[in-house]
Amino acid sequence: MATPRTAHDVDDHPTSLTRRSFTTCAAAAAAGWILTACGPKRLYDVSRERLRELVGDVEREYSATYGKDVTVSAAGPQPGVLFGYALDISRCTGCRRCVYACVEENNQSRDPQVHWIRVLQMDKEHGVDFAHADQYYEPAQVPEEGKFYVPVSCQQCRDAPCTKVCPTGATWAEKDGIVVIDYDWCIGCRCCMSACPYGARHFNWKAPSVAATDVNPHMHYLGNRPRPKGVVEKCTFCIQRVREGRYPACVEVCPVGARKFGNLLDPDSEIRYIIEHERVMVLKEELNTMPKFFYFYGT
Ligand code: SF4
Ligand code: SF4
Repeated sequence: MATPRTAHDVDDHPTSLTRRSFTTCAAAAAAGWILTACGPKRLYDVSRERLRELVGDVEREYSATYGKDVTVSAAGPQPGVLFGYALDISRCTGCRRCVYACVEENNQSRDPQVHWIRVLQMDKEHGVDFAHADQYYEPAQVPEEGKFYVPVSCQQCRDAPCTKVCPTGATWAEKDGIVVIDYDWCIGCRCCMSACPYGARHFNWKAPSVAATDVNPHMHYLGNRPRPKGVVEKCTFCIQRVREGRYPACVEVCPVGARKFGNLLDPDSEIRYIIEHERVMVLKEELNTMPKFFYFYGT
Protein backbone atom coordinates (compact mmCIF):
# COMPACT_ATOMS: atom_id res chain seq x y z
CA MET A 1 0.00 0.00 0.00
CA ALA A 2 1.44 3.34 -1.02
CA THR A 3 1.68 6.17 1.45
CA PRO A 4 -0.25 9.39 0.73
CA ARG A 5 1.52 11.55 -1.81
CA THR A 6 1.67 14.97 -0.24
CA ALA A 7 1.19 16.67 3.07
CA HIS A 8 -2.28 17.76 1.95
CA ASP A 9 -3.53 14.35 0.91
CA VAL A 10 -5.19 13.18 4.10
CA ASP A 11 -7.06 16.31 5.02
CA ASP A 12 -7.55 19.92 4.23
CA HIS A 13 -5.34 21.24 7.03
CA PRO A 14 -2.02 22.51 5.66
CA THR A 15 1.10 21.24 7.40
CA SER A 16 3.23 24.27 6.68
CA LEU A 17 2.39 27.46 8.47
CA THR A 18 0.85 30.18 6.32
CA ARG A 19 1.79 33.80 7.01
CA ARG A 20 -1.52 34.27 8.85
CA SER A 21 -1.17 31.18 11.00
CA PHE A 22 2.48 32.08 11.67
CA THR A 23 1.40 35.51 12.94
CA THR A 24 -1.33 33.91 15.03
CA CYS A 25 1.10 31.38 16.48
CA ALA A 26 3.68 34.09 17.20
CA ALA A 27 1.04 36.10 19.11
CA ALA A 28 -0.04 32.92 20.88
CA ALA A 29 3.57 32.20 21.80
CA ALA A 30 3.82 35.60 23.50
CA ALA A 31 0.56 35.00 25.36
CA GLY A 32 1.73 31.51 26.28
CA TRP A 33 5.02 32.84 27.63
CA ILE A 34 3.20 35.28 29.91
CA LEU A 35 0.78 32.57 31.04
CA THR A 36 3.47 30.00 31.77
CA ALA A 37 5.68 32.54 33.50
CA CYS A 38 2.98 34.06 35.70
CA GLY A 39 0.07 31.60 35.79
CA PRO A 40 -0.80 28.54 37.83
CA LYS A 41 1.06 25.23 37.46
CA ARG A 42 0.33 22.93 34.53
CA LEU A 43 -1.23 19.57 35.21
CA TYR A 44 1.97 17.55 34.91
CA ASP A 45 3.61 19.83 37.51
CA VAL A 46 0.94 19.59 40.21
CA SER A 47 1.24 17.24 43.19
CA ARG A 48 -0.97 14.13 43.46
CA GLU A 49 -2.70 15.79 46.42
CA ARG A 50 -3.55 18.91 44.40
CA LEU A 51 -4.67 16.71 41.51
CA ARG A 52 -7.10 14.86 43.82
CA GLU A 53 -8.53 18.24 44.86
CA LEU A 54 -8.92 19.33 41.23
CA VAL A 55 -10.62 16.06 40.32
CA GLY A 56 -12.96 16.32 43.32
CA ASP A 57 -13.91 19.86 42.29
CA VAL A 58 -14.78 18.91 38.72
CA GLU A 59 -16.65 15.76 39.81
CA ARG A 60 -18.90 17.88 42.03
CA GLU A 61 -19.34 20.49 39.29
CA TYR A 62 -20.25 17.96 36.57
CA SER A 63 -22.52 15.92 38.87
CA ALA A 64 -24.48 19.08 39.67
CA THR A 65 -24.58 20.18 36.02
CA TYR A 66 -25.83 16.85 34.63
CA GLY A 67 -27.86 15.62 37.61
CA LYS A 68 -26.06 12.27 37.78
CA ASP A 69 -23.03 10.80 39.56
CA VAL A 70 -19.98 11.67 37.47
CA THR A 71 -16.59 10.10 38.17
CA VAL A 72 -13.42 11.74 36.84
CA SER A 73 -10.32 9.58 36.80
CA ALA A 74 -6.80 10.98 37.00
CA ALA A 75 -5.20 7.54 36.50
CA GLY A 76 -1.66 7.92 35.18
CA PRO A 77 0.35 5.74 32.79
CA GLN A 78 1.48 2.28 33.93
CA PRO A 79 5.17 1.34 33.72
CA GLY A 80 5.98 -1.01 30.82
CA VAL A 81 3.00 0.15 28.74
CA LEU A 82 3.13 1.88 25.34
CA PHE A 83 -0.22 1.79 23.60
CA GLY A 84 -0.56 1.09 19.88
CA TYR A 85 -3.37 0.58 17.40
CA ALA A 86 -3.79 -1.36 14.16
CA LEU A 87 -6.57 -1.24 11.59
CA ASP A 88 -7.30 -3.96 9.05
CA ILE A 89 -8.38 -2.11 5.91
CA SER A 90 -9.47 -5.35 4.22
CA ARG A 91 -12.16 -5.85 6.89
CA CYS A 92 -13.56 -2.32 7.27
CA THR A 93 -17.01 -2.01 5.69
CA GLY A 94 -17.38 1.73 6.18
CA CYS A 95 -20.37 1.35 8.52
CA ARG A 96 -19.19 4.27 10.75
CA ARG A 97 -20.25 2.50 13.96
CA CYS A 98 -16.81 3.41 15.35
CA VAL A 99 -17.49 7.10 14.65
CA TYR A 100 -20.73 7.14 16.65
CA ALA A 101 -19.45 4.91 19.47
CA CYS A 102 -16.59 7.37 19.84
CA VAL A 103 -19.01 10.33 19.96
CA GLU A 104 -21.05 8.69 22.75
CA GLU A 105 -18.07 7.46 24.76
CA ASN A 106 -16.13 10.69 24.59
CA ASN A 107 -18.94 13.21 25.03
CA GLN A 108 -18.40 14.84 21.66
CA SER A 109 -20.70 17.65 20.66
CA ARG A 110 -23.94 16.59 18.95
CA ASP A 111 -24.70 20.11 17.67
CA PRO A 112 -22.51 21.14 16.01
CA GLN A 113 -21.31 17.59 15.40
CA VAL A 114 -17.69 16.86 16.27
CA HIS A 115 -16.23 13.52 15.11
CA TRP A 116 -12.79 12.43 16.24
CA ILE A 117 -12.86 9.57 13.68
CA ARG A 118 -13.36 10.21 9.97
CA VAL A 119 -13.96 7.23 7.68
CA LEU A 120 -12.66 7.94 4.17
CA GLN A 121 -14.19 6.16 1.19
CA MET A 122 -11.86 5.41 -1.73
CA ASP A 123 -12.13 3.74 -5.16
CA LYS A 124 -10.68 0.24 -5.45
CA GLU A 125 -9.80 1.05 -9.03
CA HIS A 126 -7.50 3.91 -7.98
CA GLY A 127 -6.14 2.43 -4.76
CA VAL A 128 -5.18 4.58 -1.80
CA ASP A 129 -5.69 8.16 -2.88
CA PHE A 130 -6.35 10.56 -0.02
CA ALA A 131 -6.64 13.56 -2.34
CA HIS A 132 -9.87 12.13 -3.81
CA ALA A 133 -11.22 10.39 -0.71
CA ASP A 134 -14.84 11.06 0.26
CA GLN A 135 -15.62 11.39 3.96
CA TYR A 136 -19.27 12.36 3.37
CA TYR A 137 -20.35 9.23 1.44
CA GLU A 138 -24.00 8.26 1.91
CA PRO A 139 -24.92 5.13 -0.09
CA ALA A 140 -28.05 3.17 0.83
CA GLN A 141 -25.84 0.30 1.87
CA VAL A 142 -22.15 -0.24 2.72
CA PRO A 143 -19.74 -1.48 1.59
CA GLU A 144 -20.47 0.03 -1.78
CA GLU A 145 -19.43 -1.88 -4.88
CA GLY A 146 -15.96 -0.86 -6.01
CA LYS A 147 -15.14 1.09 -2.83
CA PHE A 148 -13.00 0.56 0.26
CA TYR A 149 -12.68 2.48 3.54
CA VAL A 150 -9.84 4.01 5.57
CA PRO A 151 -10.80 5.35 9.03
CA VAL A 152 -8.49 8.13 10.28
CA SER A 153 -8.15 9.66 13.75
CA CYS A 154 -5.23 10.85 15.92
CA GLN A 155 -2.20 8.76 14.99
CA GLN A 156 -0.65 9.23 18.48
CA CYS A 157 2.67 10.19 16.89
CA ARG A 158 5.87 9.39 18.77
CA ASP A 159 7.40 12.58 17.37
CA ALA A 160 4.22 14.65 17.46
CA PRO A 161 4.46 18.05 15.72
CA CYS A 162 1.32 19.23 17.55
CA THR A 163 3.01 19.13 20.96
CA LYS A 164 6.04 21.09 19.77
CA VAL A 165 4.14 24.17 18.65
CA CYS A 166 1.79 24.63 21.61
CA PRO A 167 2.77 27.96 23.21
CA THR A 168 1.39 27.08 26.65
CA GLY A 169 2.48 23.44 26.95
CA ALA A 170 -1.19 22.41 27.04
CA THR A 171 -0.58 19.26 24.99
CA TRP A 172 2.04 16.58 25.46
CA ALA A 173 2.72 12.84 25.11
CA GLU A 174 2.25 10.75 28.25
CA LYS A 175 4.68 7.93 29.09
CA ASP A 176 2.22 5.34 27.72
CA GLY A 177 2.25 7.20 24.40
CA ILE A 178 -1.14 8.90 24.59
CA VAL A 179 -0.99 12.49 23.35
CA VAL A 180 -3.25 14.50 25.66
CA ILE A 181 -4.61 18.02 26.00
CA ASP A 182 -5.20 19.90 29.24
CA TYR A 183 -8.35 21.87 28.36
CA ASP A 184 -7.65 24.38 31.14
CA TRP A 185 -4.37 25.35 29.51
CA CYS A 186 -5.51 25.37 25.87
CA ILE A 187 -5.90 29.00 24.73
CA GLY A 188 -7.50 28.00 21.42
CA CYS A 189 -4.75 29.44 19.20
CA ARG A 190 -5.04 26.34 16.91
CA CYS A 191 -1.29 26.20 16.25
CA CYS A 192 -1.47 22.45 16.96
CA MET A 193 -4.16 22.07 14.29
CA SER A 194 -1.88 23.76 11.77
CA ALA A 195 0.97 21.48 12.76
CA CYS A 196 -0.96 18.18 12.68
CA PRO A 197 -0.56 16.54 9.26
CA TYR A 198 -3.55 14.24 9.79
CA GLY A 199 -6.38 16.70 10.51
CA ALA A 200 -6.86 14.89 13.80
CA ARG A 201 -7.56 17.91 16.00
CA HIS A 202 -10.91 19.67 16.24
CA PHE A 203 -11.73 23.15 17.49
CA ASN A 204 -14.84 23.93 19.51
CA TRP A 205 -16.32 26.96 17.80
CA LYS A 206 -19.32 26.63 20.13
CA ALA A 207 -19.63 25.07 23.56
CA PRO A 208 -20.10 21.35 22.84
CA SER A 209 -23.73 20.38 23.32
CA VAL A 210 -24.43 16.99 24.90
CA ALA A 211 -27.81 16.38 26.59
CA ALA A 212 -27.55 15.41 30.27
CA THR A 213 -29.21 12.06 29.47
CA ASP A 214 -26.52 11.33 26.87
CA VAL A 215 -23.47 12.31 28.91
CA ASN A 216 -21.09 9.44 29.64
CA PRO A 217 -20.44 9.94 33.37
CA HIS A 218 -17.21 7.87 33.37
CA MET A 219 -14.61 10.47 32.56
CA HIS A 220 -10.87 11.09 32.62
CA TYR A 221 -9.40 14.49 33.44
CA LEU A 222 -7.31 14.43 30.23
CA GLY A 223 -9.94 12.75 28.07
CA ASN A 224 -13.70 12.83 27.73
CA ARG A 225 -14.62 15.37 30.40
CA PRO A 226 -16.70 18.29 29.04
CA ARG A 227 -14.74 20.76 26.96
CA PRO A 228 -15.46 24.50 26.93
CA LYS A 229 -15.94 26.63 23.83
CA GLY A 230 -12.66 27.74 22.26
CA VAL A 231 -10.43 24.73 22.99
CA VAL A 232 -9.05 21.97 20.80
CA GLU A 233 -9.84 18.26 21.29
CA LYS A 234 -9.00 14.90 19.72
CA CYS A 235 -8.86 11.12 20.20
CA THR A 236 -7.01 9.89 23.31
CA PHE A 237 -7.32 6.13 22.59
CA CYS A 238 -10.22 6.37 25.15
CA ILE A 239 -7.81 7.17 27.99
CA GLN A 240 -10.64 6.72 30.52
CA ARG A 241 -11.00 3.10 29.39
CA VAL A 242 -7.54 1.90 28.41
CA ARG A 243 -5.91 2.97 31.67
CA GLU A 244 -8.41 0.68 33.40
CA GLY A 245 -7.51 -2.28 31.18
CA ARG A 246 -10.45 -1.91 28.77
CA TYR A 247 -10.45 -1.55 24.99
CA PRO A 248 -11.27 1.76 23.27
CA ALA A 249 -14.98 2.03 22.41
CA CYS A 250 -14.27 1.86 18.65
CA VAL A 251 -12.46 -1.47 19.05
CA GLU A 252 -15.37 -2.95 21.02
CA VAL A 253 -18.07 -1.77 18.64
CA CYS A 254 -16.51 -2.67 15.28
CA PRO A 255 -18.75 -5.49 13.96
CA VAL A 256 -16.06 -7.00 11.72
CA GLY A 257 -13.05 -6.91 14.07
CA ALA A 258 -11.14 -4.45 11.91
CA ARG A 259 -9.73 -2.61 14.91
CA LYS A 260 -6.92 -3.94 17.15
CA PHE A 261 -5.38 -2.33 20.21
CA GLY A 262 -2.82 -3.22 22.85
CA ASN A 263 0.52 -2.77 24.55
CA LEU A 264 3.37 -2.50 22.07
CA LEU A 265 5.86 -3.45 24.79
CA ASP A 266 4.13 -6.78 25.50
CA PRO A 267 5.68 -9.42 23.19
CA ASP A 268 2.59 -11.66 23.65
CA SER A 269 0.04 -9.00 22.70
CA GLU A 270 -2.09 -9.13 19.53
CA ILE A 271 -0.80 -5.74 18.46
CA ARG A 272 2.80 -7.01 18.57
CA TYR A 273 1.78 -10.11 16.60
CA ILE A 274 0.24 -7.92 13.89
CA ILE A 275 3.25 -5.63 13.67
CA GLU A 276 5.65 -8.56 13.48
CA HIS A 277 3.63 -10.72 11.04
CA GLU A 278 1.66 -8.33 8.79
CA ARG A 279 2.90 -5.77 6.28
CA VAL A 280 1.91 -2.73 8.31
CA MET A 281 2.17 0.85 7.11
CA VAL A 282 1.71 4.28 8.66
CA LEU A 283 0.21 7.38 7.07
CA LYS A 284 2.66 9.97 5.72
CA GLU A 285 5.69 7.94 6.75
CA GLU A 286 7.90 10.46 4.96
CA LEU A 287 7.11 13.10 7.62
CA ASN A 288 8.78 10.97 10.30
CA THR A 289 6.06 11.65 12.86
CA MET A 290 6.27 7.95 13.80
CA PRO A 291 2.57 7.18 14.38
CA LYS A 292 1.60 4.42 16.79
CA PHE A 293 -1.45 3.81 14.59
CA PHE A 294 -0.77 1.15 11.94
CA TYR A 295 -2.76 0.00 8.88
CA PHE A 296 -2.62 -3.41 7.23
CA TYR A 297 -4.47 -5.75 4.88
CA GLY A 298 -5.26 -8.89 6.90
CA THR A 299 -6.82 -10.82 4.00
S1 SF4 B 1 -16.83 0.11 12.86
FE1 SF4 B 1 -15.25 -1.16 11.90
S2 SF4 B 1 -16.12 -1.68 9.89
FE2 SF4 B 1 -17.34 0.03 10.68
S3 SF4 B 1 -16.34 1.83 9.76
FE3 SF4 B 1 -15.43 1.55 11.80
S4 SF4 B 1 -13.59 0.28 11.42
FE4 SF4 B 1 -14.87 0.14 9.57
S1 SF4 C 1 -1.99 12.79 14.61
FE1 SF4 C 1 -1.90 15.01 14.84
S2 SF4 C 1 -2.85 15.41 16.84
FE2 SF4 C 1 -2.33 13.23 16.81
S3 SF4 C 1 -0.28 13.12 17.76
FE3 SF4 C 1 0.04 13.24 15.51
S4 SF4 C 1 0.32 15.43 15.10
FE4 SF4 C 1 -0.61 15.27 17.17
